[in-house]
Amino acid sequence: MSKLPDSPRVLCLANQKGGVGKTTTAINLGTALAAIGERVLVIDLDPQGNASTGLGIERRDRSMSTYDVLSGDCALEEAVKETAVPRLWVAPSTMDLLGLELEIASSGDRAYRLRNAIEGLTKSRLFRELGISYVLVDCPPSLNLLTINALSAAHSILVPLQCEFFALEGLSQLLSTVEQVRGALNSELTIHGIVLTMYDSRNNLSSQVVADVRATMGDAVYETIIPRNVRISEAPSYGKPALLYDLKCAGSQAYLRLASEIIQREREMRPVAA
Ligand code: ADP
Ligand code: MG
Repeated sequence: MSKLPDSPRVLCLANQKGGVGKTTTAINLGTALAAIGERVLVIDLDPQGNASTGLGIERRDRSMSTYDVLSGDCALEEAVKETAVPRLWVAPSTMDLLGLELEIASSGDRAYRLRNAIEGLTKSRLFRELGISYVLVDCPPSLNLLTINALSAAHSILVPLQCEFFALEGLSQLLSTVEQVRGALNSELTIHGIVLTMYDSRNNLSSQVVADVRATMGDAVYETIIPRNVRISEAPSYGKPALLYDLKCAGSQAYLRLASEIIQREREMRPVAA
């Protein structure tokens, strides 16, 4: 297996639980990174296509999707779409992705379809023109072949955890999947960090969960905590990231802080390259 190119940095948002904030983080962290000068591609690997919708890509504009890319029908650069956010692009998904796993199950490169597609992208003219520095992959709520493709293609995984009673449930399974992928498919894969989401300051349980997760996972947990914020949940229905819908709201501001923290961590992880 060839080494991952140093640039773009590929981060995948994964947690097999649904509703923990993966897609919201892909959209708003992507927008926040773009706002501070990075050039970002969000790859939607969830058949639900919520990241694509939340970034304003209508279903009828998804004639080239991540399904076409992973099934080998088009190159990733052909699926890349502009969004309303400067310096942010998206490769949208469609429901077709639901059938992909079966279609590619017996092919030898089934776990490397995304990795190969990103490698192809880095050699394209479009890539040089856009100057993409970060790729964020939004995973489905399952440890299926789509998520394995994301983990095989990524430098790091970012795990959103919702501040609720069962936050840590399932985390050990996710982390052991990461170990397996590192052993068998992608030796470079690291854990970038854990981001706590939907924190409710009026709820004692939320702060208890933060304390528990920090006690268990230590420095892996980002300092930034994403608050539960109604503006964040409203924004997708306007096809906009929260940062465009209401930049001043607490949720948008938290995603901006998370973006800085991630860049800071990247510098610490790769002192020479930075
Ligand atoms: P996942 O991609 O992990 O399934 P989502 O990002 O789609 O999770 O979030 C699940 C739901 O919670 C969505 O309706 C989303 O709008 C809402 N949500 C996510 N983060 C927040 C937040 N910080 N504040 C309020 N609602 C949120
Ligand atoms: Mg999602």
